[in-house]
Amino acid sequence: MPPAAELEGTLREASLRVTRPRVAVLAAVYDHPHADTYSIIGHVREDLGAVSQQAVYDVLQALTDAGLVRRIHPRGSVARYESRVGDNHHHVVCRSCGDIADVDCAVGAAPCLDVVEDHGFVIDEAEVIYWGLCPGCAERLHRSNA
Ligand SMILES: [Zn+2]
Ligand SMILES: [Zn+2]
Ligand SMILES: [Zn+2]
Repeated sequence: MPPAAELEGTLREASLRVTRPRVAVLAAVYDHPHADTYSIIGHVREDLGAVSQQAVYDVLQALTDAGLVRRIHPRGSVARYESRVGDNHHHVVCRSCGDIADVDCAVGAAPCLDVVEDHGFVIDEAEVIYWGLCPGCAERLHRSNA
């Protein structure tokens, strides 16, 4: 995790007032990539003591709106958050256990997939999720089929 001073600088650069909950939520997202809201609340409480669920939701929303945090929402999963923003990376998600890993974009710049017909829309992003089985689940399936 970056030191608190660095996280405070990150908040200020995004024109967000520095508050302890904001620093704690940002730190939790840095430390636990792809964590869901529930586990982020747990980490923030370890750090700050009592914090309401709503306060953490509000901070996550503010950090997401400011572009400091990215929300990903694979189908069948709750929303997850990460601090790796702005590099147009994608995700691979395990169909069985929901585990998520980062995958670098093969192309780089967004949108990395060109559409055949844009219907007049100005397109700036393609959300790509690769689905499959993580190594653990693939191994388990292989063993149960053997
Ligand atoms: Zn899995
Ligand atoms: Zn990611
Ligand atoms: Zn891509």
